[in-house]
Amino acid sequence: MLYKVMDKKDYKDFVSGLLSDYKLIGPKKINEAVHDFVQIKSFEEIDTSYKKTTLPPAKKLLFPSTEELVKYKLNEQIEITSVLDTEEMVLFGINAWDINGMNFLDRLFTTDFIDDNYIAKRKNLIVIGVDTEPSETNFALEMGAEYAKSGFDLFMTEMQDKYFIRVATARGEELLKKYAKGTNVAASDADFAEYDKVMEEYRKKFKVKVEIESFYDCFEAKYDNKQLWEKISDSCFSCGSCNLVCPTCFCFNVKDDMNLDLKTGMKSREWDSCMIPDYGLVAGGHNFRPNRANRLKQRYRCKLKTYLDKFGSYSCVGCGRCVEACLAKINIYEDINTIKEEVSL
Ligand code: SF4
Ligand code: SF4
Repeated sequence: MLYKVMDKKDYKDFVSGLLSDYKLIGPKKINEAVHDFVQIKSFEEIDTSYKKTTLPPAKKLLFPSTEELVKYKLNEQIEITSVLDTEEMVLFGINAWDINGMNFLDRLFTTDFIDDNYIAKRKNLIVIGVDTEPSETNFALEMGAEYAKSGFDLFMTEMQDKYFIRVATARGEELLKKYAKGTNVAASDADFAEYDKVMEEYRKKFKVKVEIESFYDCFEAKYDNKQLWEKISDSCFSCGSCNLVCPTCFCFNVKDDMNLDLKTGMKSREWDSCMIPDYGLVAGGHNFRPNRANRLKQRYRCKLKTYLDKFGSYSCVGCGRCVEACLAKINIYEDINTIKEEVSL
């Protein structure tokens, strides 16, 4: 990792340079309440002061809600052609917890099964992170996801007159050399001291407290407590919104679309949700997770236990999106704390 600083006066030239040479996806204010990551056409459109976006930007680009996977032709032998998206682009302005969410997807899609469609897009994605303020439902600090150690080319932290830039890749260094010619210099001791202060203040902005450390054992202790899980899931509509907005949810269905010639067609995938009733339905009509309590318990297990065992990290970065998306007001961090309280009694 290299540590550099850029004068704020050079920021516009840097971003404009990127815009002139790359397709750039960045945060844009859509209306008073909504920011979204969209293709940016001019410097003025970028607004990194967002606190939240409904959809996680990296998942939206790398694992879109619907995606063509392969085309096929049924001749004497079946011809299969992968549909790989290899367009290079810049993802600008993604924050630390969403980078950590992407890091989880990177690992998921390259472990056990190598997902060529995901990897083709990921290799061509230049990632430039920024520190943003957490929303009131964000508990990334508690999940250890408020700081990204990897997964980006450049990560920019705003200071008084400069940006402190962590340079993680040679590609990132090249971008700085090319587009930030003015003051792209190594960080001094004074810059590091200012950066430490800025990060200290940044971490104070995360207000939600979660008893995550003890959740693993408490979850086991209460795993078979039907009454507790029914109480927690009582208001769930089984709508699946919590899955759709989550930066780490990765379940999908694959379907075939055969053309009318009955000789050509394609396979595509679309997001699935473990919270909807049909998710556990198999041939013969048996449903492995027939009720809301089963499904919510499984979702929490996947987020907070399964991948801790498998990867050594949670598959929840504490972004708070599921809390905000849930019309039934089911709240993952309140439920974590409730389970802890139940065990302490
Ligand atoms: S927890 Fe909330 S968002 Fe998730 S399925 Fe239930 S009602 Fe929908
Ligand atoms: S489970 Fe909820 S808080 Fe955790 S990463 Fe997914 S959307 Fe964010």
